Amino acid sequence: MQNICVLGSTGSIGISTLDVVKHHPDKYRVFALSCFSQIDMVVEQAKAVHPQYIVCADEAQYQTLKSKLNDAGVVTEILVGEEGLITIATLPEVDMVMAAIVGAAGLAPTYAAAKAGKRILLANKESLVMSGSLFMQSVKENNALLLPVDSEHNAIFQCLPQAIHSNEQATQLGIKKLLLTGSGGPFLNTPLAELETVTPEQACNHPNWDMGRKISVDSATMMNKGLEFIEAHWLFHMPKDMIQIVVHPQSVIHSMVQYQDGSVLAQMGRSDMRIPIAHVMAYPERIDSGVEALDFMQLNELTFCPPDFQRFPNLELAINAVDAGQWASTALNAANEISVAAFLNRQIRFTDIARINAKVVERINACDLNSIESVITHDIESRHIANQILRELT
Ligand code: NAD
Ligand code: MG
Repeated sequence: MQNICVLGSTGSIGISTLDVVKHHPDKYRVFALSCFSQIDMVVEQAKAVHPQYIVCADEAQYQTLKSKLNDAGVVTEILVGEEGLITIATLPEVDMVMAAIVGAAGLAPTYAAAKAGKRILLANKESLVMSGSLFMQSVKENNALLLPVDSEHNAIFQCLPQAIHSNEQATQLGIKKLLLTGSGGPFLNTPLAELETVTPEQACNHPNWDMGRKISVDSATMMNKGLEFIEAHWLFHMPKDMIQIVVHPQSVIHSMVQYQDGSVLAQMGRSDMRIPIAHVMAYPERIDSGVEALDFMQLNELTFCPPDFQRFPNLELAINAVDAGQWASTALNAANEISVAAFLNRQIRFTDIARINAKVVERINACDLNSIESVITHDIESRHIANQILRELT
């Protein structure tokens, strides 16, 4: 029996994780849950899985959660805030940690799980984008196991002959390129002039995937693919020129690995995150994810095209950040969290997201980030600049 801690259990990935666990009560037990605003949902989850711990946002929520759990007859220890998240991510009873908090808020508990040598199921790409080599180093030093949940990286992981620990090793194994696919989101073919006026509802209406609001906007701006480019660079030790973005609107192929001899291996499946979630939970074994197999007779066509950097300026910002260094990736991620939230609040236009992101990277000072504390300080400083630019704009 494996104990799993689900950071961000009330989100899209968290809910899918609990669904996979539900199909395998003999193999997995939900040991801890965490929520941020959806108290009623976490109470429902607790009634179903009876976790040992739940983490909520603050003291005010603590009281509400406590009384609702009492009424429901659920006995669970309640912890609060970031400290609580770090506790549940590192408890000795916990075998695996699903890192499914959105944004920089996921960094501290996910990093703590790495330091505690856990098996980490990584959905929270922002934490790796923010801390890159520090995170990878901590995984290595503490014998943690880092398994990618992000469907593209999970696909690449499945298409690789073995785990990659250096670029030399990748080259020795005959790997030529990672082909990172992306659907292009809801605005792939929208006339450019109309992008100025698209709404949050339109941006969150992804053609293939049902996701949280932040990552949905990131998919619409293709910043999601930019963050994933940085994520792939760190996870698989690949330089920029060994990662290629391929637009594939149907999201059937989730990414590919191209080899020296001309072979290309692809992972395919339905657009349902329970597939990569089940994969990382059971790895190296396989379990039923609850998702139907892909039916090729139902597929009309698979198409591919290069990314349009004019339409999606965030892509270039992210790729350039890999070259510039960690300070640029961390700043870009922080700027993007501020600009996306402002767009969702209807304070700025869709096209302002990339403008703000670019300005923050321009204005922030380049510096060495050689500790998690320095990453967090740099993240705060970048948010500060993003908020200033936001005020200038609005
Ligand atoms: P979501 O918005 O649906 O859920 C986010 C979760 O994080 C919720 O449980 C929420 O309560 C919690 N949370 C939010 N802010 C928090 C804070 N400040 N402190 C603590 N908890 C907080 O998001 P999602 O779509 O499930 O995405 C989660 C992560 O997984 C993101 O990093 C995203 O990029 C990544 N991811 C998601 C998908 C997908 O299909 N949804 C695919 C690949 C990767
Ligand atoms: Mg993805």
